[in-house]
Amino acid sequence: MKDFDYIILGGGCAGLSLAYELEIHKKLENKTLAIVEPRNEYKKDKTWSFWKTIPHNFDDCVKKSWKNYSVNIPNKIKHLECIDYPYQSIDSGLFYEKINDKLRENQNIHFYKDAKELNLENSFIFNSVPNIKSDKTGLWQHFCGVEIETKKKFFDEEIINLMDFDCEQRNSVHFFYTLPYSNNKALVETTWLSKMSDNSEKDYDKQIKEYIESKLKLKDYKITYKEEGAIPLFNTSNQAEKNKINIGTAGRMTRLSTGYTFLNIQEHSKYIREHIENLTKMKTYEIRKKYQFLDNIFLKVIEKNPEKMPNIFYKMFNGSSNTVIKFLSNKSNIIEDFSIILKMPKWIFIKALF
Ligand SMILES: Cc1cc2nc3c(=O)[nH]c(=O)nc-3n(C[C@H](O)[C@H](O)[C@H](O)COP(=O)(O)OP(=O)(O)OC[C@H]3O[C@@H](n4cnc5c(N)ncnc54)[C@H](O)[C@@H]3O)c2cc1C
Repeated sequence: MKDFDYIILGGGCAGLSLAYELEIHKKLENKTLAIVEPRNEYKKDKTWSFWKTIPHNFDDCVKKSWKNYSVNIPNKIKHLECIDYPYQSIDSGLFYEKINDKLRENQNIHFYKDAKELNLENSFIFNSVPNIKSDKTGLWQHFCGVEIETKKKFFDEEIINLMDFDCEQRNSVHFFYTLPYSNNKALVETTWLSKMSDNSEKDYDKQIKEYIESKLKLKDYKITYKEEGAIPLFNTSNQAEKNKINIGTAGRMTRLSTGYTFLNIQEHSKYIREHIENLTKMKTYEIRKKYQFLDNIFLKVIEKNPEKMPNIFYKMFNGSSNTVIKFLSNKSNIIEDFSIILKMPKWIFIKALF
């Protein structure tokens, strides 16, 4: 068995982002790294989207950037701008290719399919394999998105539809999300915030078909790509150890109220790279406590009042778009936090707090 200075368990978003960050900052010139990833081939399997509130290494993997978005609830539509923080979508296929091409240039980096091939004792481990207990008590953001193509111009490619709420009263929160890549191509997603215990929520194909044909009133289209996923809106039970740091979902980089993870992973990678010479003394990196506290309350509100959530989300987007984007991207100051908190229905949130 070979020994390595560093081992990354899981060559997905967090594992590869970290390896790339270390490589481009020349932290692997005199160190060896093994990446353990079971998948046989890398192909596009996710679209990572976010408001670009910080610089990142993957501008060349951005499929499209938008400066306008809308939030829709029955009979109401709010148009908002995000000029300072454009909404970006990263194509995971381009991301995997760019990183793997770069990593292959360094002979100190090796790839393995199974951690059993390695001696984990003498290395520093970065683990991105989440330990998720599926006890059905936690909320998930589960979704399915399809890329569709139309023959004629159909979409307004300048504006994304961030949340289009399902008007049916249910026990969970359900909305659609549309990212128009051009006037005849778009990603249309059905998204649920729920405990995933109701199987009818998972008839994604039917939901998307009905939405496209009845709501968008589009009949002539073809599906060119599909992605499905479930993001835990609760912390995974991965424990940090002396020679191990958890990264990505396993490292609690998901903002639990939104599911946004990609930019937090990039910030975490940068933080690790800055402290790479002193890993054992490094302070644990985490999403700031104030967001953890507020997200916990917010999730309780979602759980207890799913039918009220369309209005609550709609209210959140009242006022300055920059403020809400900064809040949802962990970049708000205390005044901005309060301006969001004050928009929320007091009694429901106070009840959730206690
Ligand atoms: C379909 C989808 C879309 C998403 N969209 C967004 C988005 O738009 N914006 C956003 O901010 N976040 C999004 N997320 C959330 C988050 O950004 C992603 O889940 C991201 O991929 C998390 O990175 P990760 O490295 O923690 O996990 P992954 O990218 O899943 O990487 C984990 C890796 O570990 C490997 N692995 C599994 N088991 C083992 C094992 N036993 N040993 C070694 N390796 C193993 C897997 O093959 C995988 O490659 C999305 C998630 C999904 C699933």
